[in-house]
Amino acid sequence: MYKLLVIFSILFCLTSCGAVSSSSMPPTETTARETDTTKMSRTVFAMDTVSELTVYAYDETVLDLAEEKLAELEKKLSVTLPESEIYALNHNGTATLSKDSATLLESAIDICDDTNGALDVTIYPIVSAWGFTTGNYRIPTETELTELRKNIGCEKVTRDGTTFSVPAGVEIDLGSVAKGYSGDLLSALLTENGVTSALLNLGGNVQAVGTKPNGEDWKVAVRHPIDTENYLGILSLSDMAAITSGGYERYFVGEDGNTYCHIIDPETGRPADSGLLSVTVVGESGLICDAMSTALFVMGLDTAVSYWKSHDGFDVIFVTENGDIYVTEGLSDSFTLSEYYAPLGMTVIERGA
Ligand code: AMP
Ligand code: MG
Repeated sequence: MYKLLVIFSILFCLTSCGAVSSSSMPPTETTARETDTTKMSRTVFAMDTVSELTVYAYDETVLDLAEEKLAELEKKLSVTLPESEIYALNHNGTATLSKDSATLLESAIDICDDTNGALDVTIYPIVSAWGFTTGNYRIPTETELTELRKNIGCEKVTRDGTTFSVPAGVEIDLGSVAKGYSGDLLSALLTENGVTSALLNLGGNVQAVGTKPNGEDWKVAVRHPIDTENYLGILSLSDMAAITSGGYERYFVGEDGNTYCHIIDPETGRPADSGLLSVTVVGESGLICDAMSTALFVMGLDTAVSYWKSHDGFDVIFVTENGDIYVTEGLSDSFTLSEYYAPLGMTVIERGA
């Protein structure tokens, strides 16, 4: 299984956490915070990915809390851990879910409906058939996919309070939304514990909590989906998530020489082949950004742009198979192409156009 561990590299202003001379500076809240808090980072392996949690805090307790919360969420949401709530739902056909799991599943079902099934968390049997959960990659036959597609559709999930049920053959996979949602919950946890400055990188899904300690936006480098030498550009963010879906994140080359990626078009049961290489979604809700990155990748540029025009709350960077770069208007000031890609330029998509 090939997986790129770092999708975004995180750029820090390295001087921002250093000691500040109080004599030459007015006693603002920002300078007080800079002298009091310290930059602390922790690398955590959870949800099948490496996460880098960086906080400006007084002590490591907040990082302990964040790490515990991430482990707790993995235990609830994982499709492969036998002790998880989702595993219980998939294997017993019914399960009473905790608030965290129920909220996420319910939201994902709503988005499934709203995206006309481009995001569909009942996709698991098809994801498994292609071998994406085990690494035993194979190309399922058309007959097999036709059979499996009969069990796909969020309307098959029923709910009675916090008890969810699925018919035999239907299995849930929250992999498309779990990291974004976890970013939201970790961000809320850190904020509740007094943190005003943190950057969480959950396997390339970035959640910026507040600003840098000096009040400036976080700067996050967005990688190019194919080019590993030159990054695509820099996003300026505060209190926002930036989440990318791309075929390059997990794929295999079949015996037929074709490349098959882990994002499935529920309509065909085959890896999405929509003409996009990557979709980066930026917005306040990590859950929405994560759901949208997957759904818009499946939709392809034209449908995704129409969808964006009729929905608020997020902006998007698209990279197409031709190497063209499109950004929606909300990012025209906060996303800057790298020196390498600047000559190529980017097309700004306007809502009214
Ligand atoms: P992401 O990296 O957020 O785009 O999520 C991709 C993961 O979500 C895959 O590895 C699958 O586990 C699952 N998945 C694949 N296709 C879909 C889809 N169309 N809707 C929902 N989940 C999907
Ligand atoms: Mg996603």
